[in-house]
Amino acid sequence: MACWTESARSCAPPSRGSRIRYAVVSDIHGNHEALSAVLADADRAGARALLCLGDMVGYGADPVACAEAVGERAVAVVAGNHEHAALGLMSLRWFNPVAREAALWTRERLSDGLRGYLSALPLTATVEDATLVHASPRSPEEWEYLMSPDDGFEVFADFGTRLCFVGHSHRPGVWSLGSSGREHAAWFRAWPVQVRLEVGRRYVINVGSVGQPRDRDPRAAYALWDLEERLVSLRRVEYDHRGAAARILAAGLPRALADRLGSGF
Ligand code: ZN
Repeated sequence: MACWTESARSCAPPSRGSRIRYAVVSDIHGNHEALSAVLADADRAGARALLCLGDMVGYGADPVACAEAVGERAVAVVAGNHEHAALGLMSLRWFNPVAREAALWTRERLSDGLRGYLSALPLTATVEDATLVHASPRSPEEWEYLMSPDDGFEVFADFGTRLCFVGHSHRPGVWSLGSSGREHAAWFRAWPVQVRLEVGRRYVINVGSVGQPRDRDPRAAYALWDLEERLVSLRRVEYDHRGAAARILAAGLPRALADRLGSGF
């Protein structure tokens, strides 16, 4: 029995009402064009609150605007490895040369106030019955990637809530565990992806990346979480990726960071 359905038709735009609906974003990476498009889409969909899984900065040309926009709106934010890199809280030894250059460029642009805000972000947070973490609920500070089916199923013992929202890989995916077995899905082709939260099952959900998708779809990715309907909807939003790429080049950041926005990989 599938725990999600993929159907563009099944996702009628949610009406504005009293439902508690969160927008869950991750890996914005200084892409203000993508973030603006996602926030507008979330507003239209009736999202009441914003949750952010980190990596607001790094790679893109607008780290400050992105971090400030999230800081103003989000009810919960956790730090990603790119926040820690920009703050000098972790070694850049494991970053590839392009990521390292972007981290150092970003570091120079953070005001003292923004550094203070980013430094205070926790590595995990709990909202309703969901854990928020950038990479993995198992040793969050080690920034492990949940990529394969096994990667996700191995971390269910590392969080106590029903749901765990993650980012980091920049690839939307769903792991679900319950008495009727395990289910995993990724590399979706039809959007939005509706994840119906079934009683007795737990979920790890990667919401994908707002600002630098890596699943061969250049559209911004994020999720809507509707508590009343017990539904997580993984969504894609068109945005001006050419404009974001032009700003990366104009900022003097590596060309590879601009080029990959058009391919979504
Ligand atoms: Zn990232």
